[in-house]
Amino acid sequence: MAWAGNRPLSGTQVMPRLVVGVTGGIGSGKSTVCSAFAALGVPFVDADIVAREVVEPGQPALEEIRREFGSSVFLDHETLDRSALRTQVFADATAKTRLENIIHPRVRDRIHDAISNCTADYMLVCIPLLLESGAYQDIIDRVLVIDCSEETQIKRVIVRSGLTRSEVEAIMRAQKSRAERLAAADDVLLNEGDLRDITARVGELHQKYQALAATD
Ligand code: ADP
Repeated sequence: MAWAGNRPLSGTQVMPRLVVGVTGGIGSGKSTVCSAFAALGVPFVDADIVAREVVEPGQPALEEIRREFGSSVFLDHETLDRSALRTQVFADATAKTRLENIIHPRVRDRIHDAISNCTADYMLVCIPLLLESGAYQDIIDRVLVIDCSEETQIKRVIVRSGLTRSEVEAIMRAQKSRAERLAAADDVLLNEGDLRDITARVGELHQKYQALAATD
């Protein structure tokens, strides 16, 4: 693979010309916004989906997880018992780090590959913990923060997942604050309205990103 700086070379041209990192707190609407971009034909890769793919049956990460955590975190030889693994990791911060050391490099490699294989002018990379992880600065050109009030986040996640308010608040405490995210944003999509508002704002951002990709 030929790279120009931190970007893959496609023929003589660097493609994609612009990589936008999409982030935001839990329930802010990242997936919803990425779907609206996808409806316009914009390619995107979602780190949460990739993180599930790397532990699918047959993936090498599974053997490493078995070595680190034992057979008790497997439902059968091939299938991870996600809830047993979550319980172990929740109870032990070092276990969390050991699991992340297995998963995160693989997720990052796949995201790199997705960018390398992208022939569009620009693409989106949805990374919920983009700002927390610090591992993606070299592949992201701009940060788009999906923003809403904390109360809206809590209400949406309770409806979506059935978690209690205090469980959602605990997840939010482990993430960057709203103010920290906004401070790191190049662009903000305020997601407090309805889906039509999202479509309109996504249309504006799409034009902006196309223009930026054309001049980069
Ligand atoms: P994230 O990916 O940031 O966790 P999602 O896009 O999954 O957030 O949105 C969280 C939940 O809120 C989903 O059930 C989604 O359908 C809903 N949702 C997102 N944006 C809106 C909106 N503007 N109006 C109503 N519901 C929304």
